[in-house]
Amino acid sequence: MTDAAVTITDIEAAARRIAGHVRRTPMERSAALSDLCGVPVHLKLEHWQETGAFKLRGATNAVLSLTDEERARGVVAASTGNHGRALAHAAKTAGARCVVCLSNLVPQNKRDAITALGAELRVVGKSQDDAQIEVDRLAREDGMVPLPPFDHPDIVAGQGTIGLEIVEDIADVETVLVPLSGGGLIAGIAAAVKARSPKTRIVGISMARGAAMQASLAAGHPVEVEELPTLADSLGGGIGLDNRLTFAMVRDLVDEVVLLSEAEIAAGIRHAYFAEREILEGGAAVGIAALLAGKIEMRGPTVAVLSGRNVAMDQHARIVAGANGLEEAA
Ligand SMILES: *Cc1c(COP(=O)(O)O)cnc(C)c1O
Repeated sequence: MTDAAVTITDIEAAARRIAGHVRRTPMERSAALSDLCGVPVHLKLEHWQETGAFKLRGATNAVLSLTDEERARGVVAASTGNHGRALAHAAKTAGARCVVCLSNLVPQNKRDAITALGAELRVVGKSQDDAQIEVDRLAREDGMVPLPPFDHPDIVAGQGTIGLEIVEDIADVETVLVPLSGGGLIAGIAAAVKARSPKTRIVGISMARGAAMQASLAAGHPVEVEELPTLADSLGGGIGLDNRLTFAMVRDLVDEVVLLSEAEIAAGIRHAYFAEREILEGGAAVGIAALLAGKIEMRGPTVAVLSGRNVAMDQHARIVAGANGLEEAA
């Protein structure tokens, strides 16, 4: 069974609900990219969101949409990073119990960021699938409310509020470049932007190493891909074989998907740092990277969504010093 697509009405309601709880992030014109591309290029600085990534929008909208009875039962999710941190933050603000289930591969700094916000950690097994089994158990046995990272209408509507801000700030936007993994971010943005500006083109960007949505679109249904190490770690993972919402929305609303090599993503991180003076994680630099790689057809005013900055700083330092991929395991 699939859920009905999220609409502009849902996204406008989300914007009213989360106002005052999340930042309205700035839009900055990039002189360097505008010169390079020959059209105005603007950067949506969503990595300046509190918790360091846009996921706070969806998590906040979902937590604020709970009934009193659901809030009393608490919320639970599997996450490798940004969603868990966002959910912990939103739950803390709402006074709700929050459990984040992680595999034992998740690094200590990400665990610490989540527990610092008062959430409980369950470290189980060695994959996202193992962590999800614990989520299902807590939902079944403790009655906790699962709030997944992308495939949920309140999450998609929350991320879609970025789309409202884009068309408010750049009324004549021709192209919007959006990092793409499970598709919650791009589905929400596309629903908002296309409702206000139907001719605007929405382009999703993923890493070539393990692009699950792209493989699913090609197959015509959700498929599994092998999860590979990548600089764009927050774009890793599958879309869920039982995907209810984002696969259909991306298929129906997104105009094109572009894939990038690790070296291209590294160049995006470096450009952000040296030319824009912004620190980005790999998954957030893909819009800039696609422009630098010449993989986007230039039609007019273009917006690249910079989605997060939660990069390990030793890794970031290696990239700005010239590394073109992940350090090989010793
Ligand atoms: C989660 C995430 C994405 C991808 O969002 P989806 O909704 O899964 O497509 C992109 N960038 C960052 C920084 C993220 O944390």
